[in-house]
Amino acid sequence: MFLVGLTGGIASGKSTVTSILREAGCAVIDADVISRQVVQVGSKGWRQVRDQFGEDILCPDGSIDRTKLGEIIFSDSTKRRQLNAITHPLIRWEMLWQTMRNLFAGYRYTIIDAPLLIETRGPISALLGDIIIVYCTPEQQLERLQVRNSLTIEQARNRITSQMPLEEKKSMATNNLCLIDNSGSYDDTRSQVLKLKEYLDSKRTTEVIRAAVAIIVGSLFILLIF
Ligand code: ADP
Repeated sequence: MFLVGLTGGIASGKSTVTSILREAGCAVIDADVISRQVVQVGSKGWRQVRDQFGEDILCPDGSIDRTKLGEIIFSDSTKRRQLNAITHPLIRWEMLWQTMRNLFAGYRYTIIDAPLLIETRGPISALLGDIIIVYCTPEQQLERLQVRNSLTIEQARNRITSQMPLEEKKSMATNNLCLIDNSGSYDDTRSQVLKLKEYLDSKRTTEVIRAAVAIIVGSLFILLIF
């Protein structure tokens, strides 16, 4: 079992690529979904966030108002660190758990879809065997984000510029097969993703064993951080 990181920019096509990979039978972990799960009403994460930031950041139904919390942490780096100190260990733990489940289910690798994989450089990134980058042109990124999220051009531009430029991320891809150009048609993307899957499937058993050992050692390291 080895881990593969998948990232890109906002609206560059990560979800489009992961849905093709899932359809093709790959195990994919979605860091965004996990980051919501760990602060679900009544959970340990939810209690810690409420105690740290107060009842004001809760919606009437008790769930965390992500817009309000986002405004607080966007403008205050100390608060952002406090939130990360609560959520990141819980997210890592859940990722580790899901990876172990995939391992026991017989998957040879697990793909982790994490929008901020490169920016956050957490302990998980040290365990990644390969890094996949999904990109499109800056104009397409802006237009697709604007349409998908019904934003003004200014709002879309702000969200894009708050992230590391896509061009910079492209150099982090393991090799050309791990660099998915999503500026063409969906069919173009699909055929690149299927070639990528062939490459991942074909990794030699020795590499897989080496990666499994790295995961076990890395997991112990993560547990020690707790
Ligand atoms: P991300 O997960 O990186 O934020 P998505 O996969 O959700 O990005 O793609 C962003 C938007 O662009 C979506 O509305 C999606 O349908 C659209 N899109 C993705 N790939 C293509 C493509 N190759 N051609 C046209 N539209 C696309």
